Amino acid sequence: MRIITSIGEIQGLSTHWKKAGLRVSLVPTMGFFHDGHLALMNYAKQHSDRVVVSLFVNPTQFGPNEDFEEYPRDPERDRFLAEKEGVDCLFCPEAADMYPEDFQTWVNIEGLDKRLCGASRPGHFRGVATIVTKLFNIVRPDLAVFGRKDFQQLQIIKRIVRDLNFGIEIKGYPIVREADGLAMSSRNKYLSRKERKSALCLFESLKMAEHMVSEGCRSTRRLAHAIERLILAKPGTRIDYIFLGDPETLTERERVKGETLLALAVYVGATRLIDNTILRPPKP
Ligand code: AMP
Repeated sequence: MRIITSIGEIQGLSTHWKKAGLRVSLVPTMGFFHDGHLALMNYAKQHSDRVVVSLFVNPTQFGPNEDFEEYPRDPERDRFLAEKEGVDCLFCPEAADMYPEDFQTWVNIEGLDKRLCGASRPGHFRGVATIVTKLFNIVRPDLAVFGRKDFQQLQIIKRIVRDLNFGIEIKGYPIVREADGLAMSSRNKYLSRKERKSALCLFESLKMAEHMVSEGCRSTRRLAHAIERLILAKPGTRIDYIFLGDPETLTERERVKGETLLALAVYVGATRLIDNTILRPPKP
């Protein structure tokens, strides 16, 4: 596996591969790999000839009071795991190269960023959209793989690819979970033993909502109330949002009809966790 930090070098390597007729894939990450990241890499490996994984804790997607400094990092372990997964190139750029001092061009999405995480993390999706656009332009992949765990991010990236004509295939990979259902996340590392128990309320809420819908509940207000009760019954939890709405437009719905996105953001102690599922009412 090649480890590249220089933007020019990865551009050269990817161009070389593409000239040889190889299909190149990209998996953007912020590192501290878990099985969710590894599943994305494995999917990329199965569906392309060369896999590039980018590892960059992108400062511009963190708010001033967020965890950029503390974000977990373990580059040595990440290198080992990526190599084991058959990744061809780990691209680890320097922040000073990605954002030189006179950097002044941003990618702004106007719509899909208004609700859910966009509402509680101002500027977050501007940072995400800009870094992903830069990575797409640097690597020029044929395929890019993202997790459905960050559902809004995935929809925004699909939108950017359509709106800006990137011509890149985007795969949304299913959420990878711990044995008890907690969605894997680099931030799970922050949780104490007690918080880890409370954190299960996200998965339990998704399962409860799926059950309520299968039993005939269609009111999103009723669902949201039941979820709120379940979450707040666990020690140390605070709700950021409970969203029930259209998975494509990310606008709220009063009733569960057709596929409906249920997305949650919950603080457990100081750690903000997200999770989601698609609710599908049974066909009559
Ligand atoms: P991150 O390093 O947290 O920015 O995540 C890098 C990529 O992995 C993003 O596309 C995430 O959506 C995806 N990802 C993170 N956690 C999971 C998970 N539990 N299951 C599937 N994909 C995930």
